[in-house]
Amino acid sequence: MLTGRVAIVTGGTRGIGYAIVKKFLENGAKVVLFGSNDKTVTNALGQLKEKYSNYKVIGFHPNLTDEKQIQKIFKKVEAEFGHIDILVNNAGISSNTSLENYTDEEYEKISNLNIKSVFTCSKIAIPYLRKSKGVILNTSSMVSIYGQPSGVMYPASKFAVNGITKSLALELAKDGIRVNAIAPGIIETDMVKSLPREMIEPLIKTIPLGRIGKPEDIANAFLFLASDMANYITGVVLSVDGAARN
Ligand code: NAD
Repeated sequence: MLTGRVAIVTGGTRGIGYAIVKKFLENGAKVVLFGSNDKTVTNALGQLKEKYSNYKVIGFHPNLTDEKQIQKIFKKVEAEFGHIDILVNNAGISSNTSLENYTDEEYEKISNLNIKSVFTCSKIAIPYLRKSKGVILNTSSMVSIYGQPSGVMYPASKFAVNGITKSLALELAKDGIRVNAIAPGIIETDMVKSLPREMIEPLIKTIPLGRIGKPEDIANAFLFLASDMANYITGVVLSVDGAARN
């Protein structure tokens, strides 16, 4: 479904991002994954190359809010692969701190990674995606629709991701660039494993499809929205959550 396409995936070293990288490679794309440090990037590349030795995958660990670093990498990617077709803004961190205990540091950490990185990477990607009539895909969350009972900046950041998605879809439609988001429900990744069991278990019990989501469930939706099958879809926040509501 993505033969010949070149995709950049932020937060591609584990969890949902890693599943997207795998799915895109399996479907013929060349993939550039971004992670938070050299070790996680090297590990992810090692794992992928073991499985998919003939596939084209490279990795970097830029500061996702530093325009100069991102610009330099996008130029390198274009020089190496010829074009850039898909940007997946997936890196993100969650929070369950109560408002009274929030620090300015945590506020900034969440808003920088979950919001500003989407802004910066999308901004730098535009000239490349304009040439390729490409696609921007953002990872939102079910909490961008329903909120959550603690860690207010996490849902707030995902409401912002939805706003960026819908607005950029309108702004970039004239350039032939589609912009969509996926709102995962509760997905079995390190992010969820790091949350208290007493917070997660009762939520899993309420999921109508009767199970927690797998990273691959989300990667399948990313594949669809990245592909030509979704040529007439833009500005959408697609829930992939087993009908979970909180
Ligand atoms: P994860 O913790 O397993 O992976 C997070 C990824 O983000 C990693 O690849 C990591 O390298 C990257 N990352 C973290 N901090 C970074 C930083 N400072 N700079 C650059 N990269 C950084 O999480 P996940 O569950 O796979 O989450 C991926 C996305 O899915 C996030 O945006 C998250 O908000 C969203 N999401 C997850 C769930 C879930 O249930 N797991 C639900 C809804 C939305």
